[in-house]
Amino acid sequence: MTVWLLGDQLHREAAPLRSADHVLMIEAHGFADRLPYHPQKLTLVFSAMRHARDALREDGYDVTYVEAESFGAGLDRYFEANPGDALVLQRPASHAAGERLRDMVEERGGDCTLVANDGFLTTPADFAEWADARGGTEGPYRQEHWYRHVRRETGVLMDGDDPVGGDWNYDDENRETPPENWSPPGIPEFEPDEITREVHAFVTERYDAHWGSHDLADFVWPVTRGQALHALDHFVEVRLPEFGPYQDAMVEGEWALDHSLLSPAINLGLLGPREVVDAVVDAYHDGDGDTAAPLNSVEGFVRQVIGWREFVRHVYRESMPAMGEANQLDQTRDLPEAYWTGETDMVCLSEAVGHVRDHGYAHHIERLMVLSNFALLYGADPHELNRWFHLGFVDAFHWVTTPNVVGMGTFATDALSSKPYASSANYVNEMSDYCSGCPYYHTKTTGEGACPFNALYWDFLRENEETLRGTGRMGLMYSHVDGKDDEEWAAIEERAAEVREMGADGTL
Ligand code: FAD
Repeated sequence: MTVWLLGDQLHREAAPLRSADHVLMIEAHGFADRLPYHPQKLTLVFSAMRHARDALREDGYDVTYVEAESFGAGLDRYFEANPGDALVLQRPASHAAGERLRDMVEERGGDCTLVANDGFLTTPADFAEWADARGGTEGPYRQEHWYRHVRRETGVLMDGDDPVGGDWNYDDENRETPPENWSPPGIPEFEPDEITREVHAFVTERYDAHWGSHDLADFVWPVTRGQALHALDHFVEVRLPEFGPYQDAMVEGEWALDHSLLSPAINLGLLGPREVVDAVVDAYHDGDGDTAAPLNSVEGFVRQVIGWREFVRHVYRESMPAMGEANQLDQTRDLPEAYWTGETDMVCLSEAVGHVRDHGYAHHIERLMVLSNFALLYGADPHELNRWFHLGFVDAFHWVTTPNVVGMGTFATDALSSKPYASSANYVNEMSDYCSGCPYYHTKTTGEGACPFNALYWDFLRENEETLRGTGRMGLMYSHVDGKDDEEWAAIEERAAEVREMGADGTL
């Protein structure tokens, strides 16, 4: 039996591999001419695929590895040599990709059976069962209910029928910012080997115009199963204790803080979601007194993986193709120039864009409360933002980027949250040290030097009043909107228009 293994399906324990003797892998290069993916993303995927190929061969599999311009060209070559072969393919997580690939195989005289995707902890049937019990699969869906359901079903962090520690979440302990002069613990380092260097040289030459750092010194991502396991161990031992309290914090000059940086490895299949969760939960249960990982960190991490990651995958499945075009707030502006240049006086934006440019990564709060929040308030087209995230991040795949950007980040659909994650400068000031060194005044809403977030925030609330007031969860905010007089609104409108102009002409 031949298993066709895609570049984001590298997990060695995947069910179809157990009964396969032959593996097909196609390294397709042309797709990256259509969307200019970050050079580090391309280096990561191609290097991880080549390492997986070698590991499979060492384990005795016969691997056909084809380098081609496209899947079509790769399949042409494969079926010339193996006419009529029957392939087994894990259903890709991105919408309609499975059917598309199956058709391509059949057009070349082969056969392609789609089987379950083993990169997730829960199945479409699990989600349907949960959604049915809550009144149907039409949505909108809410993560918190799903998360509790998965905890109960899997027994993860459960004490009989109750959550370990008595609470389902410990978010109130997880909103700290580090003290002054704090430095985050280091991240694991992986010396690029021959394969990674070769791939990196190829990527640098072929995709030289792509946005993002081409410097191999900035490349920190695990490319083998062994490196990914080391990254997981390192996180659990070194950064997990502080992960909880500082998970929402932002610190100038620090891009990784205590985040796990595991999403690229999980999304490629170098790590399985269940083993990641188990490692973190074991650090809580196996520890003794002071050596046990704190519950607020452990639960906070578990929620990201079995709550959010699984949830967005299913909501995406259920909501496509509509989610791919959703724009309930009718936002159509181009992204501010600063998303491409990183050049802006706004410290928060310049830090977050800089992290993406240098590492293809920004942590969750930068993604949500800086990069999406600003684009949302500015009125940027959610699909242009989605494209920017998709090409800019090492962990981006359509199934995960789209629900996060179009759903969570920009409220272009209410499929997965009941109100937008919109905030003025207050949030950034509370959770970071950015504002103290920023030339913009976070306390000022209008007039020269006022933080761009503020006027945009009020302007956004007023412009979208019809949709947002009705969500029922924005009552407090609209009581402030109602309290502003005409003079205040005129100054807000003027400043918001000024900020949008500065955004467009690159002078923000
Ligand atoms: P940690 O903070 O250490 O979290 C642990 C793990 O939880 C992550 O590795 C990831 O596997 C999972 N996780 C947490 N939140 C989510 C979520 N909302 N959706 C899916 N998985 C989650 N994640 C991606 O994997 N790819 C993306 O393209 C992506 N785009 C995003 C865009 C926006 C606008 C937002 C708000 C979030 C996005 N996320 C995306 C989710 C999340 O921000 C990243 O998974 C996380 O920041 C990755 O860094 P980490 O591994 O250090 O995560």
